Amino acid sequence: MELHVALQKSFGAFSLDVSFTVRGERIGVFGPSGSGKSTLVSLLAGLQQPDNGIIRLDGELLYDSHDATNIPPEQRRIGIVFQHPYLFPHMSVKGNLLYGYKRSAPANRRIDFDSLVAVLQLDHLLSRGVHNLSGGEKQRVAIGRTVLSSPRLLLMDEPLSALDDTLKFQIIDYLKAASEAFRIPYLFISHSLLEMRIMADRVLAASAGRIEAQTTTEDLARSRMGLSPVGYINLLQLAHPRKVDGMSAYAWGGTELLISADGDHPESLFELSSKDIILIKQHPDAISARNLLDCTVSGTFRSGGKVGVELACGDGRLVAEVVQQAACELGIEIGSRLFAAIKASAFRRLG
Ligand code: ADP
Ligand code: MG
Repeated sequence: MELHVALQKSFGAFSLDVSFTVRGERIGVFGPSGSGKSTLVSLLAGLQQPDNGIIRLDGELLYDSHDATNIPPEQRRIGIVFQHPYLFPHMSVKGNLLYGYKRSAPANRRIDFDSLVAVLQLDHLLSRGVHNLSGGEKQRVAIGRTVLSSPRLLLMDEPLSALDDTLKFQIIDYLKAASEAFRIPYLFISHSLLEMRIMADRVLAASAGRIEAQTTTEDLARSRMGLSPVGYINLLQLAHPRKVDGMSAYAWGGTELLISADGDHPESLFELSSKDIILIKQHPDAISARNLLDCTVSGTFRSGGKVGVELACGDGRLVAEVVQQAACELGIEIGSRLFAAIKASAFRRLG
């Protein structure tokens, strides 16, 4: 997918003025509340008119103020998933889903109803009214309805923001499954860096009506490490734990990580803050932290006065953070050997 946008739109005191070209399948738009993300979504989808500018998607002009090109929303083949599901209350789940299907021109329909129902696991809900669905089920139906319109681009405007953590990670799996199964590129919009990390590869950083930078989610996370109270969040997908002394032992990077037990999940995503990794120069005799990893420094970076330290621990990779003084005392440079101490309780299960 290639999207070229140069748009201006003003409402009273707020003005949106963006110009970017982005290529990829999993694009993020990251920015605080009020930075103009939803305005950008509605301009791209054709729900609002820009004051000026151009929108080109995969070489096709959707809007151009110079020659009055303005493809109507239903012909843009851009689907939107909103924060709230907005289902039709008088229709069943199946009716809601089919609405999306019927809305697309027959020649463009490339997603088959049964496959969609299978991917989003909606089979048992089809005949239900939408009133007695849970919040997560409603969001799944809304995603299904949008996907069934066979969009060539999906705009996801904070689709996880109204969900609690458990539900959020379930919906993430469905969003990923649907976009991968049906090969739909998307713009994932959020103010959550964690969601960006999970959903996007490239990111447009929005601030005060501008797109200030285009970067990778990894670089965005690193650049914010020293400014964020939670530091850099290491994300670890771990599976099939063994029980050890009331903790869970997971294979990771050619070694094992001991994590405070948290139930029986075959697979889990854990977060570990860069602030929760203690770096030590020499192997201690004994230590209360249950993880002591033999690591090599593979890189360093700076962020907000802190030093980010990339660690290679076998095949595993972690980012730790230290202050400059500690970096000097530890003699941190590429290739130096360090031990990383991490408490079993420092890992938090996300989903
Ligand atoms: P975000 O989605 O990043 O939170 P929005 O695009 O919703 O930001 O809003 C950006 C700014 O534009 C806000 O200050 C908002 O109040 C203003 N705004 C958005 N839509 C309208 C509108 N239709 N009329 C007037 N102001 C609007
Ligand atoms: Mg918004």
